[in-house]
Amino acid sequence: MGKATGFLEYSRSENPYRDPRGRLADFEDLHVHYGAGVRRCQAARCMECGVPFCQSDFGCPLNNLIPEWNDLLFRGHEREALERLLETAPFPEFTGRVCPALCEKACNLADDGVTNRDNELYLIETGFARGWVKPRLPRVRTGKTAAVVGSGPSGLAAADLLNRMGHSVTVFERADAPGGLMMYGIPNMKLPKEIVARRIALMEAEGVVFRLNSDVDRETIAGYDAAVLCGGARKPRALRVEGDQADGVCFAVDFLTGATRALRTGKAPAVSAAGRHVIVVGGGDTGNDCVGTVLRQGCASVIQLEMMPASPEKRLPGNPWPVWPRILRTDYGQLEAIAVQGQDPRVYETTVRALAADEEGRLRSVTTVRLDGAHQPIAGTEQELPCELLLIAAGFIGCEERTLNAFGLSADGRGRLLPENGSHHLGGKLFSAGDMRTGQSLVVRALKDGRAAAEEIDRWLRENG
Ligand SMILES: Cc1cc2nc3c(=O)[nH]c(=O)nc-3n(C[C@H](O)[C@H](O)[C@H](O)COP(=O)(O)OP(=O)(O)OC[C@H]3O[C@@H](n4cnc5c(N)ncnc54)[C@H](O)[C@@H]3O)c2cc1C
Repeated sequence: MGKATGFLEYSRSENPYRDPRGRLADFEDLHVHYGAGVRRCQAARCMECGVPFCQSDFGCPLNNLIPEWNDLLFRGHEREALERLLETAPFPEFTGRVCPALCEKACNLADDGVTNRDNELYLIETGFARGWVKPRLPRVRTGKTAAVVGSGPSGLAAADLLNRMGHSVTVFERADAPGGLMMYGIPNMKLPKEIVARRIALMEAEGVVFRLNSDVDRETIAGYDAAVLCGGARKPRALRVEGDQADGVCFAVDFLTGATRALRTGKAPAVSAAGRHVIVVGGGDTGNDCVGTVLRQGCASVIQLEMMPASPEKRLPGNPWPVWPRILRTDYGQLEAIAVQGQDPRVYETTVRALAADEEGRLRSVTTVRLDGAHQPIAGTEQELPCELLLIAAGFIGCEERTLNAFGLSADGRGRLLPENGSHHLGGKLFSAGDMRTGQSLVVRALKDGRAAAEEIDRWLRENG
């Protein structure tokens, strides 16, 4: 149970960010990582609560056995703690870096919750460093084949579990590198790409086959016994403002993909923010990743527009513990903008009214307007701002038509491949998982959904084989 008095003796200590000015000079990991001493003390704060909300559905979607591995970590049994963690968490090196840690907000220590995410990351990285993480090959092969379409977290989780169950798995990926949004989307400083590559190499050693640059359709998967579609919810919400075709208007994921590809190839990014005034439309996490990226590319300035009012500083009565607190958060990109520009880049209750381009069609300025409580523009509040790069990070509205068409499928009203009975089974040998099934979500939920799909496919293969 950790240390009986641990939570009284030790205060919460997260892995800190590197100094903003220093980290803006590179795209390297945002954090400084504490070692065994701090992590064992932090694990000592876990109280083995009668009702551990952290591992319930209020907390960890994977239902990680958090009090158990925190106790083992506190006692210095890192290897056993890692084994316990890997019972439920397929890729702790991803969730240990990018998970918003729903478990920590559901912790009985409330705002002072145990640093489960950093503890998890410490365990898996210790495991890799000490050679404990080795390819785990299935003892028996079933002779069944499964195709996984898409190599984001849901596809990787499904492939990993199907392979462990003994099925022969091929992962098809449209992009030139596996990982889905973990490769081309989430920036390098949040999730270094060698971490994704390390896991892919391990999965290959375990027998999973990856086929890259493969835009898959029904024909491709014809020879497989089962196939799971994990193509993501990648259709972005458009701006629908006159002039949005101007050179310099770009969807966030396209921009972030270009930024990561440039880092990987050493070439200049397809679209660069260097020397440009940038406006990011969308105050969420994707918008924040854009802010962090444009600052590293050397933008002249950055502003982040948000239609909604700022969230409250503290939980409102309708948002009690242990559910996720809907409160104001200032993420790494916004902190960096504050360090550089002296103020928060976010402007609330404001949207884009018009765009102006020069004679060559290049974006030159953006007119913004304030919105009232009903999201209606307030006359007379228009403001023209210099802008040569407008990044649209206004959310996602479901899976892409090209993938649906390739499989002759149609999505539900919210752009999801979600069967009416809530299962993963689309009919015949086709299944769906991840954001494609649930709508845009989180890495940890995509992992959970990929594993659930694998369980369902395994049952189906046994019953129909
Ligand atoms: C910028 C950004 C930052 C984010 N940051 C975080 C974060 O910090 N923490 C967090 O928890 N979540 C974050 N998310 C959300 C998270 O990345 C997604 O919820 C998660 O990646 C979804 O996983 P997935 O496997 O369902 O789909 P995706 O990751 O979208 O992967 C789908 C893959 O399928 C491939 N594909 C599609 N169609 C085909 C086809 N026909 N043939 C072959 N391949 C195909 C695509 O190329 C893609 O690689 C972020 C999202 C974005 C956009």
